[in-house]
Amino acid sequence: MVYSFVESASWSTFCHHTDCLQKHPCVLLNKQSLHGSKFLTKTRISTLVAFPGFKTENTPILQFRSKKTQRQFTVVCEDKGKFDYDVAIIGAGVGGHGAALHAVANGLKTCIFEAHEIGGTCVNRGCVPSKALLSSARRIRELRDRQHLRSLGVDVTDISVDRQAVADHAQGLANRVQKNLGNSLKALGVDVIHSRAKCKSSHVVELASGETISAKDIILAPGSVPFVPRGIEIDNKTVFTSDDALKLEWIPSWIAIVGSGYIGLEFSDVYSSLGTEITFVEALPNLIPGFDPEISRVAHRLLVQSRPIDYYTRSLATKAVPGKPVHLVLSDADTKMTSRELQVDAVLVATGRKPNTENLGLEIFGVEVVRGGFIPTNEYMQVMRGNESIPHLYCIGDANGKMMLAHAASMQGISAIENIMGNRHVVNHRSIPAACFTHPEIAYVGLTEPQAKEEASQHGFKLEKSVAYFRANSKALAEMEGEGMAKILYNEQTGELLGCHVIGIHASDLIQEAANAIANHSSVYDLSYCVHTHPTLSEVLDETFKDAKRKSLSRKHSPSRI
Ligand SMILES: Cc1cc2nc3c(=O)[nH]c(=O)nc-3n(C[C@H](O)[C@H](O)[C@H](O)COP(=O)(O)OP(=O)(O)OC[C@H]3O[C@@H](n4cnc5c(N)ncnc54)[C@H](O)[C@@H]3O)c2cc1C
Repeated sequence: MVYSFVESASWSTFCHHTDCLQKHPCVLLNKQSLHGSKFLTKTRISTLVAFPGFKTENTPILQFRSKKTQRQFTVVCEDKGKFDYDVAIIGAGVGGHGAALHAVANGLKTCIFEAHEIGGTCVNRGCVPSKALLSSARRIRELRDRQHLRSLGVDVTDISVDRQAVADHAQGLANRVQKNLGNSLKALGVDVIHSRAKCKSSHVVELASGETISAKDIILAPGSVPFVPRGIEIDNKTVFTSDDALKLEWIPSWIAIVGSGYIGLEFSDVYSSLGTEITFVEALPNLIPGFDPEISRVAHRLLVQSRPIDYYTRSLATKAVPGKPVHLVLSDADTKMTSRELQVDAVLVATGRKPNTENLGLEIFGVEVVRGGFIPTNEYMQVMRGNESIPHLYCIGDANGKMMLAHAASMQGISAIENIMGNRHVVNHRSIPAACFTHPEIAYVGLTEPQAKEEASQHGFKLEKSVAYFRANSKALAEMEGEGMAKILYNEQTGELLGCHVIGIHASDLIQEAANAIANHSSVYDLSYCVHTHPTLSEVLDETFKDAKRKSLSRKHSPSRI
């Protein structure tokens, strides 16, 4: 009688036990937990004795009597809505993981669907294993540079590299981080459901088995996969993407890397440390596009010219036939005519990534993907249909194309949850730093110089720039790593930092100070009074802030102004 009453009334339910709050603060009365709940177990069968009415709308008050003790107690059912979950997240990459953790921290009942491995690209096929390979590469390069070591007073006679051990280091780290991520989800009470999932509506998700799960809000976090241009045949052995390059199954003598963005560049660092000769194929007029042009030029000198690397710019890889050797055909980027044919040992295709947004059920919402598959979202991470947002549907991470970086995905996940909770939140993408973990590293945040110039002319302010060099930094010199520079771009009048670009040892760590400054709209003139530890690399940025201050003082005291 008790059961049928509660179920037929469909009060889904979180119930508050008014009688013994201390010991048993709540009892669930939904289908699953009714029988197992503390008060309605078989050993403590209770009978419904009265239904005095509602506390408020949808909060029925039920009175039970324990069969054993004959004690009567009251239960107030709080209607938590008609959904299985508050939030359902499709994709357990770093974006989905960030969203899930923030959701449970805010008391939202959360589930996450993952078709493959927890951790997604970053943990299994991206940031984590690539940084492990780069860590080995840095040491190999350093130990093979005898002259460099001798000037530090170190003499190394011979070094050998165990390829399998290097590969195992990367795979082992990925496995460990994947496990940690999975454990953190479970420990915090996120229901992890290992299945492909797609939307049936903005409240219902369908699993591969056909089972459906409902949630008040749905977050899409399906990430991205390598983009392979037409004509390139991937065999995962001699012609491969970063997915397989990370396995380091063999070390080719000569590899063509198609694309000189940060992924191609990082792999050139790994392969060149292992003795591989490299040919870059780049569609744009210059190598290392996407970075500030001045920094690109320094990177070109340090990471390309000083290594066994040659390149073809304004060139498209239009055909790659796997084999030994691989037959690679290049075409002129402008005329599209065949310009060169190469026979190389291997081809790594690093031509960017495409959103993994097929079969998500987007068609039922009438959403039109943009720029080759990205899901259009507004600044609140809500999925857009034309100019209108779709209620209860969000998209974060690589799939929305706003900024294809792990930490950006994670922050967008946090932001989506804030918006789900009704706190209007917008991610400041300009303050999100990016890094390329070559040796030396490249890192930046905010606007490049051409972008800053454009913004200055649009908004009518004067742009100023300050530069500092690693060769003037004691710590860098102590490390015998004096190559590189840092530059800041700022509004001359207000001092607001607009962009910061660093190439040099530990640039990826140094950039954080500038990222925080951009997030806080700090003035470089104020930053020049912040004390930096001596001797540290952080003094390189300190020097740019001090240079900015000196320039402003000299403007103030210049005779022309008197
Ligand atoms: C070689 C390489 C190096 C990189 N290095 C860095 C770096 O150093 N720093 C950095 O910030 N970024 C780096 N990145 C980029 C970074 O990995 C991505 O930006 C990040 O992983 C995006 O996270 P995400 O959660 O959006 O998607 P993903 O990590 O791609 O995760 C999406 C997940 O969703 C799952 N999924 C997809 N569709 C479904 C479905 N329908 N149902 C269930 N599950 C589904 C997928 O299986 C996947 O696990 C690197 C990338 C690569 C390839």
